[in-house]
Amino acid sequence: MTKFDDLHILCQELIPIYSEIDEEAKQVIERHAEECEFCKKKLNTAANIEITPKEMNDDNTPVKRFKKLFLLKKVNTLLVLTLRVIVLGLITFDFFQRFSQNIPHGIQFEGLRASLVLFYIPLSFVLLMFTWFIKNKRTFWITLILDVLILYFFDNIIRLFV
Ligand SMILES: [Zn+2]
Repeated sequence: MTKFDDLHILCQELIPIYSEIDEEAKQVIERHAEECEFCKKKLNTAANIEITPKEMNDDNTPVKRFKKLFLLKKVNTLLVLTLRVIVLGLITFDFFQRFSQNIPHGIQFEGLRASLVLFYIPLSFVLLMFTWFIKNKRTFWITLILDVLILYFFDNIIRLFV
């Protein structure tokens, strides 16, 4: 067996416990990893695992901040859409609860529009402000267009089910 093979076998044993071994032994492994693609990959993986727990406590690394912001935007998008669906659902449910064939439909749809103005507009205003505030631009524009469409066409859509 060559020296390279000997070192390679030793590295297989040592890389998993890389963080606990002596500085000198680390250097031996690193020198071998420079020549051995397999051990280089293994060492990189082991080193990454070693770094991760440290990163967990450090909120200031750019990657961590970026990930947090990305997650915040995703949660924001999900939240603002869910709240809109819930409020529209409640308005629709309330409309059908009160709906009567004996009352002129026009008056009842006035009531539906009034509910939208009273409940949906303030909600959408707050949600749009919040979405703008956290700089979730894409969701801001999408939900703004969605809100305009809902205010214009929601009663027409409900009319289809009456
Ligand atoms: Zn090797």
